[in-house]
Amino acid sequence: MKVKAINGFKDILPDEVTRWQYIENLSRDIFHRFGFKEIRLPIMEETGLFARSIGQATDIVEKEMYTFVDKGITLRPEATASLLRAFIEHGIHVQQPVNRLYTIGPMFRHERPQKGRYRQFHQISAEVIGAVEPQVDAEVMAMGQLLLMEMGLEASLEVNSLGCLECRPPYREKIVNFLENLSEQLCSDCQRRTHTNPLRVLDCKNPRCRELVQDAPSILDSLCSGCSEHFTQVQASLDLLGVQYSVNKFMVRGLDYYTRTTFEFIAHNLGAQSAVGAGGRYDGLIEDLGGPKLPGIGFAMGIERLVLLMLERSDDDLGLQQKTDVFVAALGEEAASHSALLVHTLRKSGIKAAMDYSGRSLKAQMKQAGRLNSRYTLIIGENELEQNTAVLRNMENQNQQNFTLEDGPASWGNSLKLIIENSVSA
Ligand code: ATP
Ligand code: MG
Repeated sequence: MKVKAINGFKDILPDEVTRWQYIENLSRDIFHRFGFKEIRLPIMEETGLFARSIGQATDIVEKEMYTFVDKGITLRPEATASLLRAFIEHGIHVQQPVNRLYTIGPMFRHERPQKGRYRQFHQISAEVIGAVEPQVDAEVMAMGQLLLMEMGLEASLEVNSLGCLECRPPYREKIVNFLENLSEQLCSDCQRRTHTNPLRVLDCKNPRCRELVQDAPSILDSLCSGCSEHFTQVQASLDLLGVQYSVNKFMVRGLDYYTRTTFEFIAHNLGAQSAVGAGGRYDGLIEDLGGPKLPGIGFAMGIERLVLLMLERSDDDLGLQQKTDVFVAALGEEAASHSALLVHTLRKSGIKAAMDYSGRSLKAQMKQAGRLNSRYTLIIGENELEQNTAVLRNMENQNQQNFTLEDGPASWGNSLKLIIENSVSA
């Protein structure tokens, strides 16, 4: 039987994993600088949680969820709903008024697999719960931008406001009127959306629809005074922090829960899958889910797309070359058993050490040391062992020195460790 991974699900092989670790480590570092704490969540929830929060008439809920119909549970398509469920369930807000949380993990959506789009993909998500101030919106976007910058990636930030429960319904009416007049000319999806989810028509990818909506009324002209003032201050705060952005009045996002600020990080060299990250404010959602009346804002970045963007940078440039400090090449059985103890001693003291147990020739072992990017090779032969010496070769400059073997492998480990560590700092 020959089995392959299922379509849209992919293996992340060791050479690529180093990039994933790089992204995850850098994200954690930046999140901690901004006072965020990690939360880890289950990958399944009750289906109702997603239908309720993301919205019944969204692409995700209508056609992209992996649901076990008989069990009433769904593989999470995004993290915000699960995070809020946990937040409410554990009363996290009781401990402090504003909570900054992040989580990293797999998400599942039944979409058409293509470059940058998979059925299992991974997101880095960050959420601030309990703060309504526009400065927080700016802080969250600034954090996302810093993350991309420190990864050495270029992406632009687009910002919009979607208003609130007060100003969106009248705007929705305006947009429905506008769309009804176009009806026949819109793509079939958009004709349907005109009544189920009219705002979505604004960011349809179909070129004809795009052209048609250019003259659509803008949400920004329909904001109530509170939302308008909030959006003005968000922009002022972004300016204050020196964050570059542009306002995109057609950005609506595919999830129903957004209110006020929404944003996307767009990379221009990702082809069709140009969004690397996106987010927004969701001020009514926590209450909707049965929690306290608290506002929230957050974003998610897709790790697969970050990795694609990073392809232009080499492993060397990113400091990702995996190296071995010392490879111990043993010749003969006695040397091999001493070497095994030596290697273990070195590993216990924090040195990356390796050896080969197969009793291969010196030449083969040196080749293996090369494959492992070893900085040193210690060659212990039978004759040398009798004379209490070994040869230590620096693989970078090929210099060799005699290494004295006295008092057994455990103590050789200490002197070898000294040599290695001194040469690192040199
Ligand atoms: P898109 O417009 O590309 O479908 P989206 O608006 O559905 O994106 P969000 O739900 O906002 O995306 O998710 C945030 C990020 O997660 C995206 O910017 C992207 O980097 C990533 N992402 C979303 N869906 C996928 C997927 N199927 N495969 C890989 N990454 C994804
Ligand atoms: Mg999508």
